[in-house]
Amino acid sequence: MATERTFSIIKPDATRRNLTGAINAVFEKNGLRIVAQKRIQMSQAQAETFYGVHHERPFFKDLVSFMVSGPVVVQVLEGDNAVAKNRELMGATNPANAAEGTIRKLFAESIEANSVHGSDSPENAATEIAYFFAGSEIVG
Ligand code: GDP
Repeated sequence: MATERTFSIIKPDATRRNLTGAINAVFEKNGLRIVAQKRIQMSQAQAETFYGVHHERPFFKDLVSFMVSGPVVVQVLEGDNAVAKNRELMGATNPANAAEGTIRKLFAESIEANSVHGSDSPENAATEIAYFFAGSEIVG
């Protein structure tokens, strides 16, 4: 299997409840290595650009407001099939539909405040990683 990198965000609902370590433990227990990580306050412009693909969706404004409502932890996770593996660990977007043991089932508050973001393809992972990290900040 190919070693891959994916981009992850621990969202404001999770940092507010002091869940960074608990979520990181799920990654590490399941073979994902945190090769870059920083806690930031996203700006409105950063959040709007990051979620630009959802611009036309009815929840876009609320989503951007939520993402700037508190600190987030942006991360690069590395491992075998990291993109798909992380999506599996995250669980469904709506925690009501998320499988047992997934991060969203364990921790999410709602379909919006769902604790984590994870890239949905290797191509998007590369774009998202480059948006938040310089190459020198990623140490594999
Ligand atoms: P993901 O890939 O599972 O994160 O889901 P999407 O790419 O479809 O949506 C991006 C993010 O928008 C989700 O993680 C939620 O935080 C938020 N979101 C998605 N659907 C809804 C919705 O119907 N209502 C609201 N308020 N937020 C949503």
